Amino acid sequence: MRLRTLIRAALPVLLFVSAASAQLQRKQLPVPNVAGYRTLKCDFHMHTVFSDGMVWPVVRVLEAWRGGLDAISITDHDDYHPHDPHVSTDISEPYRLAQARAEELGILLIPGIEITKGEWHFNALFVTDFNSTKRLELAAALREARRQGAFVFWNHPGWKRPEQWFPEIAPLHAEGLFQGFELVNGRTVYAGGFAWMAEKNLAVFANTDIHAPMTESEEDGRAITLVFVRNVDSAGVREALAARRTVAWMGGELWGQEALLRGLWEGAVRLDTPALALTQKQRSAALRFRNSSALAFRLRPAGWPSWLSAREIEIKPMQAAAATVSLAADAPAGEQSLTLDFEVLNCHTAPGKNLVVRLPVRLKRL
Ligand SMILES: [Zn+2]
Ligand SMILES: [Zn+2]
Repeated sequence: MRLRTLIRAALPVLLFVSAASAQLQRKQLPVPNVAGYRTLKCDFHMHTVFSDGMVWPVVRVLEAWRGGLDAISITDHDDYHPHDPHVSTDISEPYRLAQARAEELGILLIPGIEITKGEWHFNALFVTDFNSTKRLELAAALREARRQGAFVFWNHPGWKRPEQWFPEIAPLHAEGLFQGFELVNGRTVYAGGFAWMAEKNLAVFANTDIHAPMTESEEDGRAITLVFVRNVDSAGVREALAARRTVAWMGGELWGQEALLRGLWEGAVRLDTPALALTQKQRSAALRFRNSSALAFRLRPAGWPSWLSAREIEIKPMQAAAATVSLAADAPAGEQSLTLDFEVLNCHTAPGKNLVVRLPVRLKRL
């Protein structure tokens, strides 16, 4: 009796505590829109208990929301089910089970599977029949995905052997069976494949391929695929992927087409000091940058006049940076308009090639 009274008294408190601890906080991850497209932060490769993952599908939605993402795809293996017979091998279940929570939180949930045939793994997004590729050989499975209108990309291309355009892969590409590849899987960068973006006309992806619950420390600098969409919906994502409008982002590095990376830079960073006024005696001035995005940028002066110099400049996410530019003794007097070029060391547009940005600066020596 006394116990029941105690429970009755404590119940509202317990309910309040559990409701409070259920509250989710969303990380702000501002990334600028580019050229009239909305920029979505996406992860198109993750697992649940319905294949070899360790979490229930809805957990992926909660993690994505907490981490500031906009769209995800849960992509369980078609032919690998270590939790069978404890968990169903129907890989449409994760999508079904996660859908309501995704809708509630505004996370776009894209139907997906991981076609898993020996060492060759491909993710198929927008599948309509999740279980249709089971026990098919690779090419047949990819043809089935194509029949369903799926967008397909090649996963972790250097997983078993250093990445190269393998003889097993070339005919699949020639047949038009895939349209993208993972340049980044988890924390691994398959840099040897970066040339394929241009050479093979493939969309680049950075995905986590997460199996365990995501910890907060894993969230920092995680792999994210930026997708530039006309419309924020499933069809919008599909159109953007088909048009190859993606950028791979991980650990402060960005890989993608030059125009997209330039758009990100222009939307993110402002030069607060377009004019520098110095006395004749002054030998240095500060260039101040302001970054309103979650992206970082590392700049190195490129091709400056010999009398002007600066060190490498790091512009951190959501911060301002003041960089010293130094003038040599033979710097010209008077006023002049300069164009200062910077190589953006963390924005990769092709193998060995980085984005170059040009900043107009007026320099006045009084
Ligand atoms: Zn895989
Ligand atoms: Zn996987």
